Amino acid sequence: TDDALQLRKSYRGNVSGHDVPLPIGSFEDLVSRFKLDRRLLNNLIDNHFTEPTPIQCEAIPLALHERDILACAPTGSGKTLAFIIPLLQQILTNEHREGLQGLIVSPTKELASQIFAECSKLSHKILLAKKRPLTVALLSKSLSAKLRNKVVSDKKYDIIITTPLRLIDIVKQEALDLSNVKHLIFDEADKLLDKTFVEQADSILSSCSNPQLRRSMFSATIPSGIESMAQSIMHDPVRVIIGHKEA
Ligand code: ADP
Ligand code: MG
Repeated sequence: TDDALQLRKSYRGNVSGHDVPLPIGSFEDLVSRFKLDRRLLNNLIDNHFTEPTPIQCEAIPLALHERDILACAPTGSGKTLAFIIPLLQQILTNEHREGLQGLIVSPTKELASQIFAECSKLSHKILLAKKRPLTVALLSKSLSAKLRNKVVSDKKYDIIITTPLRLIDIVKQEALDLSNVKHLIFDEADKLLDKTFVEQADSILSSCSNPQLRRSMFSATIPSGIESMAQSIMHDPVRVIIGHKEA
C-alpha cells in the first residue's frame, strides 16, 4: 500500500472518488490482482510495452473494478492503452457473450484509426469461445454500408471505434444494436465538446440501454463543460488527473 501511494505521488497523480483502488506498479500486477489474460500480457510484451505509464497505472485498475472514469493526462501519455487493456480483459473474461460490448467514440477519423491500430495490436491472434476471433472494427463508410445492407451482422463485432456522427447515423437507421454495450468510452472528450456534442452524447447514451453500462471519458484537459457533463451522466465516477489540470 505504501509503495502504491508512493508511486502515485511520484507522478503527481490526483485521484478522487469513493473507494479508489490502488494503482498498479507493473503489468505483472494485473496478473496477480486481476488474472490478466496471458495472451494479452504476451501481446503487450511483443509490442514492447514493458512498463505501464502513470495514467495506465491508475485507470486500468479502476476500469477492472467497473468504475465510471473521468481521466485527464497529457497528450502522448498512453491514454489509449489505459482504456484498451481493461476493455480487452473484460471481453476475455466474458468470452461467451455475443454482440457489441465495447464502443469507443473519438472526435476524428484519424484518431479513431490510431485507436483501431493500437487495439488491433493487443487483440492480435486472440480467439474467444468456439474459436471466434476477438473482432474489432472501425466504423468506416464501407462498414456502415455493409451493416445497412445486412451484408455483415452487427453481432460479429466485440468492439467498434467510431466518430459520433457516423455512429448516430447508423443507429438511427437501426443497423447497429447498442443494447449490449457494457463499456462506452469517449476519447479526447475535450475536443468532442463543441455545442453539439452534449446532444450527440445524449443520443449515444440513450441508445446504450444496458443497465450495466460503464462510462469513461479520457482527455488531455478537463474544461468545466466536460466536468459538469461527466458528473451528470456518470455514476459515482472517479476522477484521475495526471500532472496539471488545464482548462
Ligand atoms: P495519448 O492518447 O495519451 O495522447 P497514446 O495512447 O496515443 O497517448 O500513446 C502515445 C504513444 O505511447 C503511442 O505510440 C503508444 O504506443 C505509446 N505507449 C503507450 N503506452 C505505452 C507503454 N506502457 N510503454 C511504452 N509505450 C507506450
Ligand atoms: Mg489519445
